[in-house]
Amino acid sequence: MKRSVENIVASLRTFEGAGFPVRRPFPTQRLEDFDPFLLLDEMGPVDNAPGEAQGAPDHPHRGFETVTYLLSGAMEHRDSAGNSGKLTPGDVQWMTAGAGVVHSEMPSAEMMRDGGRLHGIQLWVNLPAKEKMRKPRYQDTASARIPVAEADGVWVKVIAGESMGERAVIETQTPILYLHVRMKAGARFTQSVPDSYNLFAYVLGGHGRFDQKREAEDGAAVLYRNDGGEVEIQAITDLDFLLLGGLPIG
Ligand code: MN
Repeated sequence: MKRSVENIVASLRTFEGAGFPVRRPFPTQRLEDFDPFLLLDEMGPVDNAPGEAQGAPDHPHRGFETVTYLLSGAMEHRDSAGNSGKLTPGDVQWMTAGAGVVHSEMPSAEMMRDGGRLHGIQLWVNLPAKEKMRKPRYQDTASARIPVAEADGVWVKVIAGESMGERAVIETQTPILYLHVRMKAGARFTQSVPDSYNLFAYVLGGHGRFDQKREAEDGAAVLYRNDGGEVEIQAITDLDFLLLGGLPIG
């Protein structure tokens, strides 16, 4: 059985951190969360003039995971325990905040000075009650280490889970599927998804058909019913989206 679309929600445009623009499908008044996911932000894209790039200075997280996937630009991360790291395009940082982290997420020094395009994704993944106080953990994964599959006009970067014969290298605390999919107009993509997973797609660009009938474009979150073991998506124009699934925590 192929999954059908239950609802399509538009993103809210807002500002985060010290004032960088985000598109946020949830949490909003319409959609509080999407178990096990607590938040999805598309950061930018924003073209900064020299000296104008904004980030998120020191702030705390506890009891869940924050996953940052950078598409353009360069970000630096620094936390209260002395951990630091840099993300360049295509890199992923999977941070399990657990018992608590105070950190800053800022454009790199070069970006602060010279400006440039910043574009990325931040996802928050909930942790089960017994994992909420675990020791914080970082998995910084360079783009070159993240598996990519490509065939018949479909390109898939496998950040978590499995797709087109490729298996992710990042370990998740709960079962998660996180794919970045780019398709040529007219291409078709079928992905198997465990029946128990909640599943949604977030459209970064283009226009696609997400079940037999429902179409969505740029900035939309497409929420699926749990009515099948696979999903079939067709690109109407060139299409760029994230496919996110996970076992609900309840
Ligand atoms: Mn943060």
